[in-house]
Amino acid sequence: MKTPSLLPEPYKIKMIEPIRLPSAAERRERLSEAGYNTFLLRSADVYIDLLTDSGTNAMSDAQWGALMTGDEAYAGSRSFERLEKAVQDVYGFEFLVPTHQGRGAEHLLSKSWIKPGQIVAGNMYFTTTRAHIELAGGIFRDVIVDEAHDPRSEAPFKGNVDLKKLKALLDADSKKVAYVAVGAPVNMAGGQPVSLENLRAVSALCRERGVRVVLDAARAVENAWMIHEREPQCKDWSAARILKEMCALVDACTMSAKKDAYVNIGGFLATHDRGLYEAAQNLCVLYEGLHTYGGMAGRDLEALAVGVREMVQDEWIAHRLAQVRYLGERLDAEGVPVVKPFGGHAVFVDARAFLPHLSQDDLPAQALAAWIYEACGVRAMERGVVSAGRDDEGRNRRPSLELVRLTLPRRVYTQTHLDFVASEIGALHRRASRLPGLKIVKEPKHLRFFQARFEPVPVAAAASRG
Ligand SMILES: *Cc1c(COP(=O)(O)O)cnc(C)c1O
Repeated sequence: MKTPSLLPEPYKIKMIEPIRLPSAAERRERLSEAGYNTFLLRSADVYIDLLTDSGTNAMSDAQWGALMTGDEAYAGSRSFERLEKAVQDVYGFEFLVPTHQGRGAEHLLSKSWIKPGQIVAGNMYFTTTRAHIELAGGIFRDVIVDEAHDPRSEAPFKGNVDLKKLKALLDADSKKVAYVAVGAPVNMAGGQPVSLENLRAVSALCRERGVRVVLDAARAVENAWMIHEREPQCKDWSAARILKEMCALVDACTMSAKKDAYVNIGGFLATHDRGLYEAAQNLCVLYEGLHTYGGMAGRDLEALAVGVREMVQDEWIAHRLAQVRYLGERLDAEGVPVVKPFGGHAVFVDARAFLPHLSQDDLPAQALAAWIYEACGVRAMERGVVSAGRDDEGRNRRPSLELVRLTLPRRVYTQTHLDFVASEIGALHRRASRLPGLKIVKEPKHLRFFQARFEPVPVAAAASRG
């Protein structure tokens, strides 16, 4: 096998934040105090934090410099104008409504465009997106391709919309469909991308039926670069060109700026549609703040305006994807079962294959995330039955994927950190048959994975239950 290699970082380090690996005894105690939920660990007790890439990015010197120029005027801030111009230039949307983060934009969109009882079709769900669709009275329908549910499939665009499934929904009653929500890439499927060809086909089909399309643009630049790498017609296209092309195919986007845009907080709704713009601006005043700041400080708008322009620089995005691929290849070389091809923001470990002695009721992905922290102080998160929550009848939704996500914050960790993560998880894998499952002992009503508490279920008990 060829030795994995990594592109050198296109930056050097100007400021550092110390981190510390707690002792094995401390880790065991902290994990138990946190109810075996990695979301409930304290950051001070984490060595390498791969919980999420959301808001955990390192800003550039240009972004830090821009903070000082923030215009904190309540209304009509210059910082808003700079952000608006950046979004128009980079994404190509004419209208911008800033929000405190991505779910703020999802809220405004869902309330503006969904009538109770209507359907929103999407390529697999995302937690906050579906929650807002349902709070607005909508019904979510998954129309992703079947390969997305198979961690063994190596199809290049496992995030694609299944056009047959979408067409069947539109044929049944296109008036019932509020809009089609395309996540690109698909977070819950392992950061798998949507091809430009697929997005074009979805857009054409929906335009023909008078149905609107919304892009979840949290990591659209990562998707754009995977299109550059995997879609032959686009191999000479820049990330900037592909992103613009994607946005031209949809009516609006919701954006969590905490992802692609290298900031620690922020988001927006952007659209070509004046009606949506005006409705969302009005709701913004109720839920976020005046429509020229939307819950962000002027300085945050400035850092975001710079980040939006940085994120489409090819060398940045190429390095980001190379880093994810490097971690994936190192884990693969250790024999750890990982979802392939590697996606944009994270490496996903297949917890069912890692812990084959556990059933889905033993919450294998939740358990694996806990045992990874206990083994080496690395924090990951569950994407499986716990994240999927319960259906209307209160039954557990049972996704076919039980994944542990090792997410890379942007511009934060070095190759040495990634080597440590891969070799420690490799060692854990070699003793996996002795690792117990978990059961829920406290379950909150909304987005339970954030705050639920668990207890270990010994291996013998799990096995006898089958
Ligand atoms: C993070 C995320 C969101 C929600 O954004 P927040 O900024 O966390 O509110 C929506 N969709 C996707 C795909 C995301 O990754």
